[in-house]
Amino acid sequence: MSINSPLTLVSIVIPVFNEEQCLPELISRTLTVCQNLAYPFEIIMVDDGSRDGSGPILSDAVHKIDKAISAVFLNRNYGQHSALMAGFSQAKGDLIITLDADLQNPPEEIPRLVNKAAEGYDVVGTIRINRQDNVFRKIASRAINQLIRRSTGQEIGDYGCMLRAYRRHVIDAMLTCHERSTFIPLLANTFAHKVIDIPVNHAEREFGQSKYTTMRLINLMYDLVTCMTTTPLRLLSIFGSVIALIGFLFSIFLITMRIIMGPQWSAEGVFILFALLFIFIGAQFIGMGLLGEYIGRIYHDVRARPRYFIQRIETTDKN
Ligand code: UDP
Ligand code: MG
Repeated sequence: MSINSPLTLVSIVIPVFNEEQCLPELISRTLTVCQNLAYPFEIIMVDDGSRDGSGPILSDAVHKIDKAISAVFLNRNYGQHSALMAGFSQAKGDLIITLDADLQNPPEEIPRLVNKAAEGYDVVGTIRINRQDNVFRKIASRAINQLIRRSTGQEIGDYGCMLRAYRRHVIDAMLTCHERSTFIPLLANTFAHKVIDIPVNHAEREFGQSKYTTMRLINLMYDLVTCMTTTPLRLLSIFGSVIALIGFLFSIFLITMRIIMGPQWSAEGVFILFALLFIFIGAQFIGMGLLGEYIGRIYHDVRARPRYFIQRIETTDKN
């Protein structure tokens, strides 16, 4: 299907993890917004192994509230991005919108995303104006942005905002990726040709707390960085070579001084031991750097990301 063809179905995918307090408002607001869309829609709620009352609320929504709602129940908690992937595998729309369940991103922004996507964009990203998160998270986001910009030259924008729209072919491409730790906005960008970011509102979490503990955030940061680049591994080999070189030069200095100044200067051989130590440490670092290079390549291959993704083929009938 051509990217410019009119939308036939819009899928909204919402991951849910212990959000019983948010769900009633979320469902009613999202439904109201979607009913006013110019396109047919479906809402797919993915229960990511919730342990509170979210499951029954979702079942009720499916059976009693609206036919357009469906729910996918995962057997345990796999994390937001895996839950989204599960939702993608069930979504049938040619435009898929992801939304958090906690109402930090208002569902009322959905029509703007749909309209932008209908103009022919593969991915419509968002930038949170007046982001309502704590300082620690804002600083961490900025640091990661910098790291990725430096190492890949790519500007990744406000990747933490999950209110985003993806065209079908981008979702199909993502579903063929086999890596376990994914960071969806970044993965999607690797398959998108036309991407645009639009500003959206951001609210503070009204009910409950963020489902990301510090440990999970750190984990997510690693996912994010490794999803984009193997530069940290390369840094190991650069760092290793520099240390090795310094160690080697220093050991030459120690040995030369020992020869010129005599054994007294080198504390009766102790400095020579140091010199040897520096050389061995340097060699180890170079070894680790080499391993890093191989691991980087293995990592690329194991992820088995498709090397390319054909959007469409145009030929004339040759017969
Ligand atoms: N979420 C999930 N599984 C998890 C953690 C979070 O499905 O293991 C969902 C959560 O219910 C919410 C969204 O992911 O809909 C974003 O989570 P949260 O608001 O806690 O993250 P934050 O806004 O603090 O980044
Ligand atoms: Mg949130």
